[in-house]
Amino acid sequence: MGAISVLDDNMINMIAAGEVIERPGSVVKELVENSIDSGATRIDVAVEEGGRKLISVTDDGFGMDGDDLAMSFEPHTTSKIRASKDLQAIATLGFRGEALASIASVAAIKAISRTRDSLQGYSVEIDCGAKSEIRPCSCDYGTRIEVRDLFYKLPARRKFLRTVNTEMTHVIEQFTRTALANGSIDFTMSHNGRELYNLSGSQSLSERIAGLFSEEIAQSLMETRSEEKGLNIHAFLGRPEISRTNNKLQYVFLNGRFIRDKFISHAIREAYRTFLEPDRFGVVFVFIQMPYEDYDVNVHPTKIEVRFYNANLVHSQVLAVLREKLLGSNLDAKGKIPITQAGAAPPLQAKDQGEHAVSIRRAMDEFFRKHRPVETQDRFTFRGVRPASSSLAESPQRADVSYEPLRQGQLQQPYFLQIHDSYIVVQTTEGFEILDQHALHERIVYNQIKQKITSAGLESQKLLLPESFEVSASQQRAFEDNTEIFEKLGLEVVLFGPKTVAVQSFPGLLAGANPIDFVRDLLDLLADKGKQFDAETLLDEVINMAACKGAIKAGQKLTAGEIEQLLAERDRCELSSRCAHGRPTVLRFSIADLEKQFKRT
Ligand code: ADP
Ligand code: MG
Repeated sequence: MGAISVLDDNMINMIAAGEVIERPGSVVKELVENSIDSGATRIDVAVEEGGRKLISVTDDGFGMDGDDLAMSFEPHTTSKIRASKDLQAIATLGFRGEALASIASVAAIKAISRTRDSLQGYSVEIDCGAKSEIRPCSCDYGTRIEVRDLFYKLPARRKFLRTVNTEMTHVIEQFTRTALANGSIDFTMSHNGRELYNLSGSQSLSERIAGLFSEEIAQSLMETRSEEKGLNIHAFLGRPEISRTNNKLQYVFLNGRFIRDKFISHAIREAYRTFLEPDRFGVVFVFIQMPYEDYDVNVHPTKIEVRFYNANLVHSQVLAVLREKLLGSNLDAKGKIPITQAGAAPPLQAKDQGEHAVSIRRAMDEFFRKHRPVETQDRFTFRGVRPASSSLAESPQRADVSYEPLRQGQLQQPYFLQIHDSYIVVQTTEGFEILDQHALHERIVYNQIKQKITSAGLESQKLLLPESFEVSASQQRAFEDNTEIFEKLGLEVVLFGPKTVAVQSFPGLLAGANPIDFVRDLLDLLADKGKQFDAETLLDEVINMAACKGAIKAGQKLTAGEIEQLLAERDRCELSSRCAHGRPTVLRFSIADLEKQFKRT
């Protein structure tokens, strides 16, 4: 008896603060969200020492009168909901009425506010739950809340705060999320008096993305929209070459609220499948609008998770709109022309310049001698490149290259050149591109196998002499368990005495591969992964392997005819810009980029 007592309000707030206020970043989130709920058109965030010392948020929203200001720091006080039915369609970011009370219980606060129809404002100070009188003051309309020395009376919590840099990363992340979700509001943010962001509400979303991240990311985004089945989706998708090793640059917003949702994350991953290697993540910004009644936001104290009433619909719509955009876009990777050492080196003396140019020329002569175009010199030399025989010593000045720009449709015969027996350089209307012969052919063979397997299966060719080899017990079991896969691939393999199999027929499409090596690797793959994967994934693995083995290799010299065939097949091939593992097959370079690098423009 007597062991149970009711906690006082300050204790309740401190416990709530444990859930809602983890670090300075959470304070920024809560205060900025309150400003947005107050209808602000401008929000200024100022932070000192990663928010450990000060977080100040100023808005031009509708403000509070003296009574409301006093009330707002009490637990469970909110102006945003009144009755339980309001919980069914929450249109504001806040509604739980616990943020200000929580923050005020663990820091020193100063708040000032003025409503638009009042000439006078009010201020209040609260020091870890101890509230001052409300005092009249003169101030602009709107609200400013300053939070100093977070957790200063709670050494155990303060100890968990990280370095200024780490805390600042969290603060910026929270700021970024809210600024992205509210593109029409002006935002500024400063750290230790230095302005970090100044975002205008009149900017477009992609300008805002450029302001918050980088011009490079914004430039790489492809925009798409859809409005179907009650879901309005507006998305920006990063081209595969700016993918990341984690999903931090995947931002999903639901009615102006940043959320993390496993269905949507899955839809994004699926959309990028085959465009990216399995361990890479696309850069994506997805803005979803849907009726407030169709999901529940009251699931998590920080409201970062929601519960969709029809999660499958959200999943399929997001997947469809993203996938469609990716499939419909030209995703050839844009090649980056590196600043060469010559460009980065200190300016050369006049004498050195001559020697330097001659040595470059020698290297070029050597290069062209070694990698003579595959057919006649005339046919495959790039226009504009000086013939290899002319010596640069004649002019150490800039080589006199004149381009004859090609117009669309003028490239009757592509100008191409195989280099290092691995890459094909092809002249295009805008510049040139470099194809990875193996990756490209692998994609072509992958598509062909996939298409044939889903229809009649691969056509097989009888080998003149069956080839036999010894198998292990697990390989034999893998063979017996997967006869269907062998049939689909057009592989006729028979048991030929104990522990021996013979390959009798082999698919024509994989003519580039050695039958015994292929079947041996196939058996290993089936033995290895047969149990681990479902039938569909296993078949995909097999097709991947077959495509890799059946494709032209790196280091394989190709004839002009073979290159022409490869280019023709590429034109007919879907998703030709990526191999089946998501790696690029082609890099594009433009003459404009070259001219910039050579300082011609
Ligand atoms: P909630 O946002 O969940 O309602 P808070 O504790 O964050 O709870 O805020 C309590 C109340 O204080 C809000 O409901 C709102 O009425 C008022 N308030 C807080 N910040 C502001 C602001 N910047 N401008 C106007 N009113 C505010
Ligand atoms: Mg709030």
